Amino acid sequence: RANAEKFEFQAEVSRLMDILINSLYSNKDIFLRELISNASDALDKIRFLALTDKEVLGEGDNTKLEIQIKLDKENKILSIRDRGVGMTKEDLRKNLGTIAKSGTSAFVEKMQTSGDLNLIGQFGVGFYSVYLVSDYVEVISKHNDDKQYVWESKADGAFAISEDTWNEPLGRGTEIRLHLRDEAGEYLDEYKLKELVKKYSEFINFPINLWASKEVEKEVPADEDESVEEDETSESSSSEEEGEEEDAEKADDEKKPKTKKVKETTYEWELLNDMKAIWLRNPKEVTDEEYTKFYHSLAKDFSDDKPMAWSHFNAEGDVEFKAVLFIPPKAPHDLYESYYNSKKSNVKLYVRRVFISDEFDELLPKYLNFLMGLVDSDTLPLNVSREMLQQHSSLKTIKKKLIRKALDMIRKLAEEDPDETNDKKKDVEESSDDNEKKGQYAKFWNQFGKSIKLGIIEDATNRNRLAKLLRFETSKSDGKLTSLDQYISRMKSGQKDIFYITGASKEQLEKSPFLERLNKKDYEVIFFTDPVDEYLMQYLMDYEDKKFQNVSKEGLKLKDSKTKELKESFKPLTKWWKTTLASDNVEDVKISNRLADSPCVVVTSKYGWSSYMEKIMHSQTL
Ligand code: ADP
Ligand code: MG
Repeated sequence: RANAEKFEFQAEVSRLMDILINSLYSNKDIFLRELISNASDALDKIRFLALTDKEVLGEGDNTKLEIQIKLDKENKILSIRDRGVGMTKEDLRKNLGTIAKSGTSAFVEKMQTSGDLNLIGQFGVGFYSVYLVSDYVEVISKHNDDKQYVWESKADGAFAISEDTWNEPLGRGTEIRLHLRDEAGEYLDEYKLKELVKKYSEFINFPINLWASKEVEKEVPADEDESVEEDETSESSSSEEEGEEEDAEKADDEKKPKTKKVKETTYEWELLNDMKAIWLRNPKEVTDEEYTKFYHSLAKDFSDDKPMAWSHFNAEGDVEFKAVLFIPPKAPHDLYESYYNSKKSNVKLYVRRVFISDEFDELLPKYLNFLMGLVDSDTLPLNVSREMLQQHSSLKTIKKKLIRKALDMIRKLAEEDPDETNDKKKDVEESSDDNEKKGQYAKFWNQFGKSIKLGIIEDATNRNRLAKLLRFETSKSDGKLTSLDQYISRMKSGQKDIFYITGASKEQLEKSPFLERLNKKDYEVIFFTDPVDEYLMQYLMDYEDKKFQNVSKEGLKLKDSKTKELKESFKPLTKWWKTTLASDNVEDVKISNRLADSPCVVVTSKYGWSSYMEKIMHSQTL
């Protein structure tokens, strides 16, 4: 177009689009839910703005917060429009030309190797999925603060933006026109679109309407005028007395009707979703399948994986709210990547059904950021800014309850799981249902165990609850995971402390001289092999009145009657040793009963760093 301004895509976007447009990926359906999800986001935004300023909604059709899908079969165009917040010219340039979020590179990489596009929405690049099915896309948008513009691109490395002087004014919002490729003809089929909306966009909280065709049978006057006249004359001539004749007339009527039925196509808006908010329903009436689908739309994760667990509850009292929390099947790609800088919570906040924010840190502590969910509160005020909401006293109560429910949900997951260390039980239970649950907690631990450990470090109030959820291997667990409670139940009589040792791997720890004596005496020792465990053990001092004892540190007490005698008789040696090594090399030299075969071992002091911690501090890895 003549006065279009031309731009080049950011290199990364261009690469992504190249991949998409050349993709042989079979599940191209995903583009529709990405566009609907964007439309829904835009509607959420305008509704939120309208809370504090009614004017922004405008009047007439502009106030209808809905999504519309239209087909133009002749020109092979599929269009999706919303009456959301819209985009200014600058928004169009920035939002549909650059990628703001991190991790996109990783996604592009992954997609090239695996070809799986299912997670595209999680990476903040869902829009570009339009190029799976189209070779040319127009985005027409009108924002309250700007004129109407058209963004267009053929995915050839460049896009153009022009002031829109030819399309119908949108009032407000965005219309996306997909010029479908020949092989994407199936998306011009209304049934296909209905099916896709049902499958992927059921839980969108705004009406999704399709401009749907309807075949109606209509009675129209029959074409031939004579036949009508003929009918009329025959009718007027019919009478009671002429019974036989009438029958003959009737047969004639059937041959030549006065009107005929023709099929006519009309169009009308057809609502495709019922917008029921799942969290408002009675948990007893929501099926597992509905929760799974809701999770998929919430997490923008449309793989076949089911969430590991969920918790749906209704809090009453001073602060009323409804909430649904999910444990995802897998940890998101960037969960621990920038843990301490990230501000990402995955719990959406609604106030009286109105979406407020998905970036509310105050809802869950950082270590629970792996949970997905939604909170809808009737107690919070609607007509204040996000900043003011963030200060609201009710949030503290909500947070406290959410943490409690989240930890309950994880505890239940652990309890339902067949005892990992109990082999007898494992052999007996083989029904498919049990199989599904089997290993769920081990799976959870694998994905999110680190979060539980970070929780123990950060959340003093819930430390004990979290400690119950810890899993680890031990010198006796034979490669299986075990818990502190299980460890305690196996403690030897007279054993006061919980023994543990830290190191880089189980294999390395199994060879440690610190274990010799303990093994010989049949004591069980916990192996902590995650770098974060060193920090963890600085916060976890005791559990169920039992102290933790690092067996590589001073203070290990094993019952042995001969130690005292030996200490006396070897005093000259230990004394000589200590003076020979000098005090800046060792703190003390002692007779110990912790070894069996090795002649001596270097032990760190009770309050010092373990040798493994020293290594960690040197390499600075967490
Ligand atoms: P994400 O939705 O994760 O941000 P997308 O690639 O789907 O990533 O969209 C990029 C951005 O483009 C959105 O964040 C939004 O700012 C803008 N956008 C896309 N579609 C619309 C729309 N229908 N209305 C307003 N803005 C939109
Ligand atoms: Mg999106």
